[in-house]
Amino acid sequence: NRQFVLAQRPDGVPDDEDFDLVETDVPEPGPREVLVRTRYLSVDPYMRDRMREGESYAEPWAVGDALRGAVVGEVVESNHPDYEAGDTVTGNLVWADYAVADGADVVAVETGDLRDSVALGVLGMPGRTAYFGVTDVLDPDPGDTVVVSAAAGAVGSVVGQLAKLNGCRVVGIAGSDAKVEYLTDDLGFDAGINYADADVADALAEAAPRGVDAYFDNVGGDITDAVFAHLNVRASVAVCGQIALYNEEGVTMGPRKLPRLVETRARVEGFLVGDYAPRFEEASERLAQWVQSGDVQFRETVADGLENAPDAFVGLFEGENVGKQVVRVEAE
Ligand code: NDP
Repeated sequence: NRQFVLAQRPDGVPDDEDFDLVETDVPEPGPREVLVRTRYLSVDPYMRDRMREGESYAEPWAVGDALRGAVVGEVVESNHPDYEAGDTVTGNLVWADYAVADGADVVAVETGDLRDSVALGVLGMPGRTAYFGVTDVLDPDPGDTVVVSAAAGAVGSVVGQLAKLNGCRVVGIAGSDAKVEYLTDDLGFDAGINYADADVADALAEAAPRGVDAYFDNVGGDITDAVFAHLNVRASVAVCGQIALYNEEGVTMGPRKLPRLVETRARVEGFLVGDYAPRFEEASERLAQWVQSGDVQFRETVADGLENAPDAFVGLFEGENVGKQVVRVEAE
C-alpha cells in the first residue's frame, strides 16, 4: 500500500520535494470501520491552504501527516452494518491505494451510467459549490450579466451553465483560447476572455457592454480588480476562491481599495459549500437531472496513477485541467 505524506511545507508553488510517497501495510479496519480501495481521488485548490501554517478554513496538516481529500472507492472489507464488500463509497480519505474510515464518515455513491469520478466533480463538492453559489449567494435575475473566473474549471464551468439556465448573459474568464472555445462553443457561454492574452478590463467592455451585475470569483487578484472596474450599481459578488493568491506569501490582508466598490454599493459575500451540508442531497439531485437532460455538461481531466497526484495538484495552479481534475488510482 502506497500513501502520500506532506514532506515539507511548500514555498510558493508546490513541487515534488513537498510530497513523499511511503509504503505502509494495508490498514486493518477496526470496529464500525470500512477498508476502501481507492478508485479516484480529488485534488482541489483548497488543499494548498492546508499545506501552510496559520489561519485557514481548512485545518493545516503537520509535516509528516498523510494528505487527504475526497476519494471515491470500493469497500473491500466492512465492519459497519451499512456497508458490504463491493459497495462504492465516497469520503474524505488519505491519498493512498487503500484507506480505512469510520462507516459513518463515508456515503454510498450512485452515479448511474456515469463513471464514479463524477462524485468528486459535477455531482460532488465542486458541482454543489456552483449550485449554492449561484442559486443562494449570487441569485442573479434573468437578463443579468454574470461573469465567472476560472470559468473552464470544475466549479466555474457549472456556474456559467447554471446562470445560462437562469436566463443570464454569461461571460467566462479562463487562461487559454482552447478553454474560451470550450466555454462558448460547447457550454453555451455568451462570451469568453482569455486573460493570458488580453487586457481583461478592455475585453470586458466589449463582452459585457451593459456592465456586470453579478461576479462569481474563483481567482482574486488582478482579474478580480478588472471585473470590479465594470461592476454595476448594486452588483453582487460571490467570493468562492482566490486561487491566484494561494501560492503567495505576504499578501496584504483585509479590505483594500477595490475599484468602484464604494461607488457601486456592490455586495461582496464569501461563502463555503460546507455550510450547505443539510441541502447537499437537493443539489446533487438537481445537478444529476441537469446532467441527464444535457443542460449541464462536464469534462474531467484524469491523471493516471497515485504517484501522479502531486503533479495533478500542482497543475491546478498552472491551468492544466479542463473541468474537474481527478486522479485514477485503482491498485490491484
Ligand atoms: P478548477 O478546476 O477551477 O482549477 C483551478 C483553475 O484555476 C485552473 O484550471 C486555472 O485555470 C485557474 N487558475 C490557476 N491559477 C490561476 C491564476 N493565477 N489566475 C487565474 N486563474 C488561475 O478548481 P475548482 O473548480 O476546484 O476551484 C475553483 C475555485 O473555487 C478555487 O479558488 C477554489 O479554492 C474555490 N472553491 C471554493 C469552495 C468554497 O466552498 N468556497 C469550494 C470549492 C472550490 P486557467 O487556465 O483559467 O487559469
